[in-house]
Amino acid sequence: NTTVMWFRRDLRLEDNAALYHALKESKNVLPVFIFDTVILNDLEDKEDKRVVFIRESLLHLQNQLTDLGSSLLVVYDDPVHFYKSIRPKAVYTNHDYEPYALTRDETVRAILEEKGVVFKTFKDQVIFEKEEVVKDNGEPYTVFTPYSKKWKATLNAFYMKSYPTQKYFNHFKRTKPLSIPTLQDIGFKDVKTVFPERMIKTSVIEKYHKQRDYPAIAGTTRLSIHLRFGTVSIRKLVQVAKKKNEVWLNELIWREFYSMILYHFPHVVSNSFRLAYDHIAWQNDVEQFEKWCEGKTGYPIVDAGMRELNATGFMHNRVRMIVASFLTKHLLIDWRWGEAYFAKKLLDYELASNNGGWQWAAGSGCDAAPYFRVFNPELQTEKFDHDWKYIRMWVPEVDTDDYPAPIVEHKTARERVLKTYKAALDVN
Ligand code: FAD
Repeated sequence: NTTVMWFRRDLRLEDNAALYHALKESKNVLPVFIFDTVILNDLEDKEDKRVVFIRESLLHLQNQLTDLGSSLLVVYDDPVHFYKSIRPKAVYTNHDYEPYALTRDETVRAILEEKGVVFKTFKDQVIFEKEEVVKDNGEPYTVFTPYSKKWKATLNAFYMKSYPTQKYFNHFKRTKPLSIPTLQDIGFKDVKTVFPERMIKTSVIEKYHKQRDYPAIAGTTRLSIHLRFGTVSIRKLVQVAKKKNEVWLNELIWREFYSMILYHFPHVVSNSFRLAYDHIAWQNDVEQFEKWCEGKTGYPIVDAGMRELNATGFMHNRVRMIVASFLTKHLLIDWRWGEAYFAKKLLDYELASNNGGWQWAAGSGCDAAPYFRVFNPELQTEKFDHDWKYIRMWVPEVDTDDYPAPIVEHKTARERVLKTYKAALDVN
């Protein structure tokens, strides 16, 4: 009579929708996490810091559960295979909207239901999902501002309410402590990393609208990795955002906007949102791409961003926009190349937001900047890193002869991209 609570990207006991329902509806809940071999085998870098983060989060969960007389079962398997091999009474889990996850969950549902096992899934990762915020005629929004207005108008106390899981903590299955596989056990290596704190820094949120654009300042919350893996609850954050700062609330809404776009327009995974943009004649120069990856383009703000990314797995949002614009517009390299590189490196990598961010920068996305608006890296630096504090943090040799000359000239690159984009869009 065991009910399985399948944790995925919701690695917390507090305010967790599926966990709440599992504990409320069963007195014997076994918490389970599956290191998914399908996903892990796909990761080329065996020193992937995100796997380290997941494992650390599992250890934290394990400590909490041990204190409650229970334990987390962690397995290393293909979830489809795992669910073929067990027969609990029920399996509870939270929704995941990425294409792979949607297919996997449907397969798991079929396997379980055939055995008479109940499979229940819940919304947890976002405030509004799927068709919850759509136009009056039922169609999905493709522009952010009207979407965010409707989102805010739909929001009420009900949607922000936390799930009081702690009321039923005595419903966890009582087990002896189980061990968690080591990184070696699952084919990875340990990499010492300091991850952003799980703390909601209200002082940062209060000043967010003034400080968010300056990469040299700790002016954003750094909660993205926690949102990615569900080590914080979105309902908790929206409660704070509503009270403290609407500008920051808008960022949380961007996250839901892109998640909604991916759900309704899955073609964005491999194609431009606006299909005409798939006719752009990219240059795709491999050498230039490598220089961009390494932070050796000779454009200090671009190089600083890429080096921050390579060293820490994080890049400030303003700089993400600058490097993405530079790759697609100055170097005329396909946004998909940049997207894939970010996907490998970002600790907070999220298919929907990354794809949305890249297509926004390339001009091919929904609600993207018009293509003829080409970021000028020098002007961006002037505005957002005026004294080169951020640049010097990551490119210490910037004032010496060791620093390379620009790989493309701004004016020439600008003219080339305008011509190339125009040619593709005029015909299609
Ligand atoms: P804050 O500024 O404190 O914002 C709070 C939270 O809101 C973030 O943690 C994030 O969850 C959400 N958020 C903020 N801005 C955006 C945005 N523009 N789009 C969607 N959600 C947003 N964000 C990711 O989480 N994963 C990605 O893979 C990702 N790739 C990006 C790629 C490009 C090219 C660009 C331009 C942006 C990308 N972003 C991505 C959005 C944004 O840069 C990060 O969410 C942000 O920098 C994270 O820092 P923070 O936690 O301090 O954010």
